[in-house]
Amino acid sequence: MRRALLLLAPALLLAAPVTTAVAATGIATPAKTPVAVGTGGGVASESVEATQAGISVLKNGGNAIDAAVATAATLGATEPSVAGPGGGGFMVIYLAKTKQLVTIDGREMCPARCTPELFVDPKTGAPLDFELARHSGISVGVPGMVAQWAKAVRLYGTKSFGSDLQPAIRVATDGFPVSVNFHQSEVSTLTDLQSFSSSRKLLLTPDGQPLPVGAHFVNPDLARTYQLLAQHGPGYLYTGPLAQAIARTVQSPPVTPDATITVLPGMMTTKDLSNYVARNRRPTHVTYRGLDVYGMAPPSSGGTTMGEALNILSGWPLGAEPRSQALFHYLESTRLAFADRNAYVGDPDYVPVPTQGLLDKQFAATRRCLVHGTALTSPVAPGSPYPPFAGCSTTNRKPTTPREGMQTNHLVTSDRWGNVVSYTNTIEQLFGSGITVPGYGFLLNNEMTDFDFAPPAPGGHDPNLPAPGKRPRSSMSPTIVLRGGTPWLALGSPGGSTIITTTLQTLINRVDFGMTMPQAIAAPRASQRNGAATDVEPAFAAQPYANVLTRTYGENLSVIGPPSFDPPVIGFVNALEFLGGGRVQAATEPARLGGGSAMVVNPNASGPGR
Ligand code: GLU
Repeated sequence: MRRALLLLAPALLLAAPVTTAVAATGIATPAKTPVAVGTGGGVASESVEATQAGISVLKNGGNAIDAAVATAATLGATEPSVAGPGGGGFMVIYLAKTKQLVTIDGREMCPARCTPELFVDPKTGAPLDFELARHSGISVGVPGMVAQWAKAVRLYGTKSFGSDLQPAIRVATDGFPVSVNFHQSEVSTLTDLQSFSSSRKLLLTPDGQPLPVGAHFVNPDLARTYQLLAQHGPGYLYTGPLAQAIARTVQSPPVTPDATITVLPGMMTTKDLSNYVARNRRPTHVTYRGLDVYGMAPPSSGGTTMGEALNILSGWPLGAEPRSQALFHYLESTRLAFADRNAYVGDPDYVPVPTQGLLDKQFAATRRCLVHGTALTSPVAPGSPYPPFAGCSTTNRKPTTPREGMQTNHLVTSDRWGNVVSYTNTIEQLFGSGITVPGYGFLLNNEMTDFDFAPPAPGGHDPNLPAPGKRPRSSMSPTIVLRGGTPWLALGSPGGSTIITTTLQTLINRVDFGMTMPQAIAAPRASQRNGAATDVEPAFAAQPYANVLTRTYGENLSVIGPPSFDPPVIGFVNALEFLGGGRVQAATEPARLGGGSAMVVNPNASGPGR
């Protein structure tokens, strides 16, 4: 079946503010709202249909875990460029009944035939070009998302996996209008989408062009896939007909005859798929200004890197400092934490990751003491996260600066019982590998390119090289913050390695600078990741403190761009804040990439939302 295209007047739609769109079925889609306050639980995500899916599950007796799965599955329909069953992710969950923090690692894994030279050109011995690696079968990891969803629902949900997929089936069937963001994503990856017959058929117009803004997009193939998963369970993807279809697609990507790109076949087998397990991992934990901050442990570097930066920052009274000085400290804390992340974090099932040392306050002290009145010169060397911790720590290990993708999605959910989910998931780059599984309506990830490409020089050590069954290091940072032992905040962001800095910056905006959560999300962003320059949004560069950061503190600020999205942005935060008395504030981006969608089960407008 092909999608139906109902073309509306694109120019008109581009000019008009987004209010209420009516799909071909006559079903009204509510407008996007960036903030909602009320009771009964809340949801914030990138798309209005996905947020609504979570809310409908909550209204029908599902809990926050059911709502998270429903929201994520619906994002697979509405945001195929950054979500869907072909990807993976990390979920941090607060369980109200037992007051426990648990996590599920649904990260993709490398097939059994992976080697450390996966991304090395056998002819030249040089690392492959990133784009060549990306739109190829070799970049595709065994998808973890569906196993993660099923595990989350089985262990912690109140409904069934099948019932949690129902809203997504409806959205994929009924469709929705193509947004500016959806259209721009297609424009920026057009060559890839044109190069695979299955992606072309699913995502482009009959003459192979991006879907115009306002076109009505439906995905009956995805609806059928979800229906089959609902009926047969996750085994349909890992051991059933869909496993065969995925392995076949990876080994022999459906390249169009007129494709101009080189596509390397991958080596995933059905055995790789049947071997996949979503894992429970102990969350990371640090205390910060009396709060308990929980995050995702390796193979994500989110929890350890944010945790180390928070430990470094806790030695300075950020809230009492002039804003420029506080921001200088913020930038230096992540410069140092990224040096350690790159040196030490990988899949803990394959390399010994010093998680405890990285999160030790005394280790942070050995890093903090390197910071004086001016910006350090990057790349700074990693420290030594092994006790005893003394003095100012650097090692002579060579710093590494890995490359990562720039898109994914983060969502948050809560329920009337007090459960909370903070969930980041992705297919890596925009539209992942660019390869749609023919007839199934979703794209395969390119997550294996999160591994480092080139083996280190002799005597060197790299925790993030490919290996059979290994999971690549991630930056995803789903975070839950407790105050006085109960949930206060849940937040996270997309954005490759900027995920870590965006989540951290939003947190200090709220905790140290006294902004409300909506203000903390909207504030201009800067990201220092042990690079020579600090990436900043244009709005950050326009602030008075930017000048002081440059002149007084020697920070080298670099305005991001040229934009594939206009204006260029760093991150896209979705967050919840618990206001007491069962009230929750759901908050999302008011403007970046067209804004997100925040809703609560029982809205009430009262209260400032602080
Ligand atoms: N692949 C990235 C990671 O796991 C996320 C992709 C992105 O945000 O663009 O850290």
